[in-house]
Amino acid sequence: MPNITVCARFRPLSSKEKRDHGDTVCIRRIDTETFLFKDEKEEDFTFSFDRVFYEESKQAEVYEFLALPIVRDAVNAINGTIITYGQTGAGKTYSMEGPGVLECDEKKKGILPRVVDGIFEHIKSFDKIANYSIKLSMVEIYMEKVRDLLDLSKDHIQIKESKVQGILLSGATEISILDPAQALESLSTGIANRAVGETQMNMASSRSHSVYIFTVQQELIGEKRVNAGKLVLVDLAGSEKMEKTGAEGRVLEEAKMINKSLSALGNVINALTCGSGRANHIPYRDSKLTRILQDALGGNSRTALLCCCSPSSSNASESLSTLRFGGRAK
Ligand code: ADP
Ligand code: MG
Repeated sequence: MPNITVCARFRPLSSKEKRDHGDTVCIRRIDTETFLFKDEKEEDFTFSFDRVFYEESKQAEVYEFLALPIVRDAVNAINGTIITYGQTGAGKTYSMEGPGVLECDEKKKGILPRVVDGIFEHIKSFDKIANYSIKLSMVEIYMEKVRDLLDLSKDHIQIKESKVQGILLSGATEISILDPAQALESLSTGIANRAVGETQMNMASSRSHSVYIFTVQQELIGEKRVNAGKLVLVDLAGSEKMEKTGAEGRVLEEAKMINKSLSALGNVINALTCGSGRANHIPYRDSKLTRILQDALGGNSRTALLCCCSPSSSNASESLSTLRFGGRAK
């Protein structure tokens, strides 16, 4: 069975939602796995996930449930992927980064800074039997082009595959990470670069996928063998349906590309979860995103998908489509 955990997270109602639409929420909780969802036509749907995080859920709970097992695996040379999915404003970046990766408020820290702490904490317990080296790369996928967030001059990164190392971002910057503080500094530099690039290209961050790749190399003391675990975190572009809004020109082109890569991701996950014992075809090559994730999605790797939603009935149709994406991944 594929190792995929699918969770839903509802952020609190925003003040704008409260002001413009009243305090109307489109979900009724049943328990921590199941809720009723009311769409615009007042039709009820029941959804079940491995875990549902309601508005009061804590960042630490989200991390512990869906990321911690993957961090443990990465330290033991097993690849993994953590993905946030949902419409713009649904809470993907808040879940992934928190208010900022350098956020000092322990409670508000997102998955990314907790992953950094988690990796270092776990390698500490193995430091008698293994030497570790940790590397970080950060890229952004925009209009099917891969851009290095640690060096903006590299805006056409090629994806290659090697027998030994698996999927490689050819020429992308890899920073050696020596301690958590340095990792957070580098992450924050990359995130700041993303904003610079966006201004240069006049594009919104919600229209690109951000990809953070940690490689944890493990050299068992006394053995010549080196193992590596790759942990990929993906803050996806907004899943909202732009086509319906009468978008034109570049906005429409962007929307088509995003749609295409999100469908490709859905198709890969479906092919993995529906796959019987025989080797079925997994369409990794249909998008840059799935190609990058190829060796961290499927096989013995572990995947967590966090479907982020607004709880407001004014966003019900986008939330429904996010929840259906998550439902298909099960
Ligand atoms: P996305 O990345 O999906 O576009 P954001 O993560 O930027 O959305 O969230 C949109 C807004 O909602 C931000 O102001 C963010 O701080 C807030 N927000 C999102 N999730 C939560 C949460 N769980 N608790 C409190 N505020 C949240
Ligand atoms: Mg975001």
